[in-house]
Amino acid sequence: MKPLQRRAAVSWAAVALLAALCGIVAVLQYRWIGEISEAERQRLQEQLRDRLDALRTRFDQEISNACAALQPDSREMAQAGAEQAYAARVARLPRNRRAMFRRIAIATPDGDTLNLALLDTAHGTFVPAAWPVEWNGMRERLFARMEGRPLPAASAASYALLEMPRFGPDRREQNWLIVELDTDSLRTVLLPDLLRRYLGQGGKSEYDAEVQVDTTPPTAIFESSLTGHALHDPDGSIQLLQGPSPEPGAAPLGVRVPLGRPPQHRLRGATPVAPRISPAGPGWTLLVRHKAGSLEALVEQTRLRNLALSAGLLLLIVATVTAMVRISRQAQQLAALQINFVAGVSHEFRTPLTVIRTAAYNLRGRLAARPEQVERYGNLIQHEAEKLQALVEQVLRFASVKAGVGVRRLEPVNVIELLEKSLESYEAAAGQSGTVFEKHLDAGLPPILADEVALQHALQNLVDNAVKYGAEGGNWVGISAMPVEDSSGTAVEIRVADRGPGIPPDEQRQIFDPFYRGRRAVTDQIHGTGLGLALAKNIVEAHGGSLAVDSEPGRGCEFIVRLPAQIDAEAATLRT
Ligand code: ADP
Repeated sequence: MKPLQRRAAVSWAAVALLAALCGIVAVLQYRWIGEISEAERQRLQEQLRDRLDALRTRFDQEISNACAALQPDSREMAQAGAEQAYAARVARLPRNRRAMFRRIAIATPDGDTLNLALLDTAHGTFVPAAWPVEWNGMRERLFARMEGRPLPAASAASYALLEMPRFGPDRREQNWLIVELDTDSLRTVLLPDLLRRYLGQGGKSEYDAEVQVDTTPPTAIFESSLTGHALHDPDGSIQLLQGPSPEPGAAPLGVRVPLGRPPQHRLRGATPVAPRISPAGPGWTLLVRHKAGSLEALVEQTRLRNLALSAGLLLLIVATVTAMVRISRQAQQLAALQINFVAGVSHEFRTPLTVIRTAAYNLRGRLAARPEQVERYGNLIQHEAEKLQALVEQVLRFASVKAGVGVRRLEPVNVIELLEKSLESYEAAAGQSGTVFEKHLDAGLPPILADEVALQHALQNLVDNAVKYGAEGGNWVGISAMPVEDSSGTAVEIRVADRGPGIPPDEQRQIFDPFYRGRRAVTDQIHGTGLGLALAKNIVEAHGGSLAVDSEPGRGCEFIVRLPAQIDAEAATLRT
């Protein structure tokens, strides 16, 4: 295996290995992201449990602290009497706490009846009042307590009522303070604040929330999203107020934790005077669902984002490696071409130099004594020196084309004159080489804007190739020039054709690359540097034109140059 082939095989093996590694990494990453997502889901659920628990604790504290502040101690009771003592407490309540209660009342047993005194907020005193209808559930409940009967079922209408018994010295319930929570205030102040604080980030709640009274069907008393739709499939729920217990005064506020954790707190100890607070209506449940749709949806979103990110990174790696492999292959090919170029140019130099050296030796050694022999050797030296000069010219021109200065001043040029000049030397040598030049030059050709010397060089390269490679096809070179119309306007089309071996299809794209030489040119040792077509194409394109090849192997080939015509009237008269 040649070194170049070996290097190519190694590159392909590396690419295959990399593709396999990328595949393995992709599978591992897919699994890993799945595991991370599962862990994230569990973490979020636990975090939600903790946050709900903390929220409920805070809610309980807020309510029980407000209720505790309403409870006079026994000294206040003894000094002012029950009603004044309660009224004084209400008067001392801070505004925000006072806003939590819609109505406050005292229920006092009197024989078989239960008297109700409602707080008159305007005067700050308790006045006897009839039991409001929606408080009936509470009334029934207190009667049952007085008579030691089992407590009746919770009344839906009493969902916002709490009662706090006051015990006498005989440890019997003397009276009850009844408070009705102001659900408007809870809805607009306390609950949004708690949601922001315990379920939010950056001052905004991450969850939609709903508070339901546990009636059948449940009644929503708070909705954070204001959509008006009930919250289906919540991510978590927790009891805020528990419904009444069958045991008198047995259960304080929220005690159930639906997410499966035992409660970590009780109201006891939350306030200096721990009131026994019992709701009279059904319990309240807080339901929450993440704003992304659900916790599952949030985790899925994150999983998809992570997958997209890793896929993107993987693609980037693959693209980078592919680019690197391509660049290194191109560099290898370029290096090979350059080696061929150096070898080719050296070879091109060697033949004329050998001829010149031999001719000079013969002249010096008087081997050629006769004047006609001197003349012959002189001609030979001149001819070979011209070849060398052309070669050096070619290389220098290529260097200037690469430096971007291959084409200099553009002037209106007559195409027929340009072609005649380009063919001059070849036609002069036609007698010796036996090449036939067949020309079809349209007399009405418009002028073109060109750097005449550069364009002549480009055309000569094409003619040179036609002579060189077409020799085995009968030494015929066809040159035509005619005006054509294309999408960008009028153009001049010059065709240089030969009947040589043609160019194989797989080589047709590469022949315009610098240093590239066809297989046949190399094996048949046809002289050349691989720069002619690259130069011609560069020069033609610098004139705004195009160079293409049309060839069928075995039937010769034709190079087609198109250059935009200079239709400008002034220019047209200039040189025609
Ligand atoms: P060079 O002729 O010095 O090799 P060129 O750049 O002029 O370099 O041409 C590149 C290659 O294109 C040649 O090596 C040859 O294989 C192919 N080629 C160019 N002109 C012809 C032609 N008229 N007929 C056949 N092959 C050609």
